[in-house]
Amino acid sequence: DIAMYRAKLAGGNRYQVFSEEMHLMACDRLSLEVGLRQAIERDEFTLFYQPIYRLSDNRLYGFEALIRWQHPTQGLLLPDRFIPLAEETGLILPIGDWVIWRACRDLQHWQEQFPQCQLSVNVNLSNRQLMHPALAEQVLAALEQTQIPAHCLHLEITESVSIDQPEQVRDVLLRLKAQGIKLSLDDFGTGYSSLCYLTHLPIDILKVDRRFVKLITETEQKHLVIDAIVSLAKGLELEVVAEGVEHPYQVTRLRELGCDYAQGYYFSQPLSIEQVDVLLAEMHAT
Ligand code: C2E
Ligand code: CA
Ligand code: CA
Ligand code: CA
Repeated sequence: DIAMYRAKLAGGNRYQVFSEEMHLMACDRLSLEVGLRQAIERDEFTLFYQPIYRLSDNRLYGFEALIRWQHPTQGLLLPDRFIPLAEETGLILPIGDWVIWRACRDLQHWQEQFPQCQLSVNVNLSNRQLMHPALAEQVLAALEQTQIPAHCLHLEITESVSIDQPEQVRDVLLRLKAQGIKLSLDDFGTGYSSLCYLTHLPIDILKVDRRFVKLITETEQKHLVIDAIVSLAKGLELEVVAEGVEHPYQVTRLRELGCDYAQGYYFSQPLSIEQVDVLLAEMHAT
């Protein structure tokens, strides 16, 4: 029968295309992995910083550190291109350690230059780091060396991947929290275990994922999901950060809802170190 024959033919074709793609993907992956292994020694990583603003008075509250890879041939790579492979290969451990150090150093520098700002820095942690026994030592060592106050370091944990050893992770987080470090639950609402995380882990801050912020449109008056998330956070006495804020009406609505902080293209793109220096200098001059 002709339809079946066509389907088979199409299926066969698809298989061939698929295997060629697989081959290309494997090559790409291999060269990416080789490059990733050298990137630390060659000092090819860099941090960009996205400003976070306090909604009650529109003041700069801190920055989220976002890694970039200045690839020797491919230009500036975004984390989605290499963090998954870094996690798979375990390279995220040395890379993540570098991020903690770099972010603490940069904050130390800004705090020294602008002591009245009281800025904080957010560092993203991958679950591999959370599971690693050396994490607490590394974080505490970075704080001690740079002398930044512990409450100025915020660690972002994402709930999009499941945690295999919840007890172990909880102990590590409790230890960090006992030192004064703030813990933030990233991408809230996107994982399957949001509420388990909230009740089980010692979280201080909720970051509402940008797909919920997107639901706040100019015309729609009911924003049930975001309403519910903000009230939940308030009920649990957590602070709330909205991410991916792109429009002024989202800022207005978030402020009305009692959301504490916001970040997104409406306020600023992630900035290079030099751009942050300019921002802080301008802020200081006015
Ligand atoms: P994330 O933690 O959810 O970070 C927010 C992402 O949203 C960033 O993408 C940021 O550039 C982007 N963004 C900011 N404002 C807006 C906006 O208004 N609209 C839209 N559409 N996007 C916005 P980026 O820098 O590409 O980072 C992607 C992800 O990579 C991060 O998502 C985080 O999960 C991961 N990542 C970044 N840096 C690190 C790191 O140092 N370590 C680890 N483990 N993961 C990192
Ligand atoms: Ca984050
Ligand atoms: Ca996020
Ligand atoms: Ca994320």
